[in-house]
Amino acid sequence: MTTDPNCLFCNIIAGRIPSALVYQDDQVFAFRDIHPQAKQHILLLPRQHIVSMTELSHEDGPLLAYIYETALKIAQEQGIEQSGYRVVTNVGPNSGQTVFHLHFHILGGEQLGLFGAAH
Ligand code: 5GP
Ligand code: ZN
Repeated sequence: MTTDPNCLFCNIIAGRIPSALVYQDDQVFAFRDIHPQAKQHILLLPRQHIVSMTELSHEDGPLLAYIYETALKIAQEQGIEQSGYRVVTNVGPNSGQTVFHLHFHILGGEQLGLFGAAH
């Protein structure tokens, strides 16, 4: 499996940097965001080092399906499935992506704001 020793999230997955673990298995890893933007803010990522959505291709279909399946499982376990939540991935400069290891934000636990342009 591809990993990058200089990548923050690869180091979190490897346990070299501590995190508040929410879920892990052989394909994915989920932990609480250090700067939560909502009462519940979890980051869900593939163990494999993929920079962002731009690197995905048709072959990644099963992995993506598994990520969404896991996001649903996490939402259920965290008790936010009925109240609602948002799953979002940032891609590149205009999105504000700061960590270049594909990850999905799971946000919920309270009413979320609108999202779009920053003005
Ligand atoms: P991005 O802006 O790339 O979509 O999301 C990166 C996220 O990673 C941000 O929400 C940021 O708060 C979070 N983050 C950055 N460094 C750390 C860290 O060391 N630990 C944890 N748990 N989250 C981090
Ligand atoms: Zn990585």
